[in-house]
Amino acid sequence: MPKATADIETHPKSFFITTLGCPKNTVDSMSMHQSLLKEGLLPASDPEASDFHLINTCTFIQDATKETIQTILDSIDLKKKRKQKLVVVGCFAERAGKEISDDLPEVDLHFGTGKYDKAGEIIRKSFPLDFKDVREFNEDLLERLTLSSVIENYSKPYSYVKISDGCNRGCSFCIIPNLRGKFKDSPAEDVIAETKKAIAAGAKEICLVSQDTVFYGKDTDKLLDLIQSVADVKGLEILRLLYLYPDKKTERLLDLYGKIDHIAPYLESPLQHVSKSVLKSMNRTGEYGYFKSLFQKARDVKPGLEIRTSFILGFPGETADDVDEIIRFIQDVKPEKVNLFPYSPQDGTKGFDLEGKLKDKEIAKRVNLVRDAYLQTLKEIHQSRVGKIYPAIVDEVNEEGAMVRRFQDAPEIDEVVFVEDLNLRVGQIGKVSVDSFYELDMTGSWV
Ligand code: SF4
Repeated sequence: MPKATADIETHPKSFFITTLGCPKNTVDSMSMHQSLLKEGLLPASDPEASDFHLINTCTFIQDATKETIQTILDSIDLKKKRKQKLVVVGCFAERAGKEISDDLPEVDLHFGTGKYDKAGEIIRKSFPLDFKDVREFNEDLLERLTLSSVIENYSKPYSYVKISDGCNRGCSFCIIPNLRGKFKDSPAEDVIAETKKAIAAGAKEICLVSQDTVFYGKDTDKLLDLIQSVADVKGLEILRLLYLYPDKKTERLLDLYGKIDHIAPYLESPLQHVSKSVLKSMNRTGEYGYFKSLFQKARDVKPGLEIRTSFILGFPGETADDVDEIIRFIQDVKPEKVNLFPYSPQDGTKGFDLEGKLKDKEIAKRVNLVRDAYLQTLKEIHQSRVGKIYPAIVDEVNEEGAMVRRFQDAPEIDEVVFVEDLNLRVGQIGKVSVDSFYELDMTGSWV
């Protein structure tokens, strides 16, 4: 019997998933992870050690697409050094499947969104010769393997749980509805079961993610019931809600923020702009005054709450006055965390054909202008944090100390506090006092 075949029969194949993009992709990667385990594959510690290297891609904006392509090219180099299969999955594969087939023959397989939970079966069918059924797990062992795998591979004190996928809003700059399809929510029982599973695996914090959280159930009462049920899960210490579209539904949801103590003091609500005319052309609702009062309500119902938002600069037709309006908003309302994206036209969106496109150089200038204003405000925000004590969770401990996160900060997205204390444990919850700050992160002491 040739040696390769013997290897296949005696050694389970291994996989590694490289995840790009947002926390929603992290959840999809976890779903692929479970599916691959069920088919008898085992997780590898890094891409180099894997038989199947899967890349879960992002193509939200031009920079994300560039990062995706670069990662695929790097992985092709890696593949040449090791006999492995390269699988490209997710948003970029959905959008550019033909280009991948035509231009990247080194990619062995690609498939788009919506098939994450079938990843194991797809790989089994696609590589029947490389991938014999070596599954020997009984259900109990599989359950334990899944749990320990979640702990090992996502060994963080937080976990993401997806409550829906897709989006019906149709913002004119956004390709996501084309890639992810129409809005579909997950049954409440599944969301609660996922939450319980993550907590059993060691998570203290659950971040509910989706493309459009407040659209859940299409009826805010259903969303409020879901959040209450998740909040009631035993062992959950922090519940964080991500991606709240700035409208009346979010306003109603904020009432719940005031009633449930362990909803994190954090509002993530991407505004994308504050100028009424630009928002209209983006096919979005709201304007400066409404957003200001929404953010004020959030701060009123949950004292100490911090806000993350984002703006797109350089949308077709945007004037210098529109840019000034964003700057004024940042200086006036002082959202603590701001993402700035240069507009990049995406083929397949309504914005692609709009008149009044700006040159890249002008867009970059506008981004820099707003960034300077934000960084100035951020300095004041940081200064006001020094000497204050915040509830916090330990995310990581290494030989130099601990990475601690205030409840006001979301994992992997926001700032952290570095604490020189080697006695802390990952997942420990307590209080941190902020001593000083860098441009984004802070230093502090565990108190
Ligand atoms: S709300 Fe708008 S920006 Fe967000 S996913 Fe839906 S279409 Fe895209």
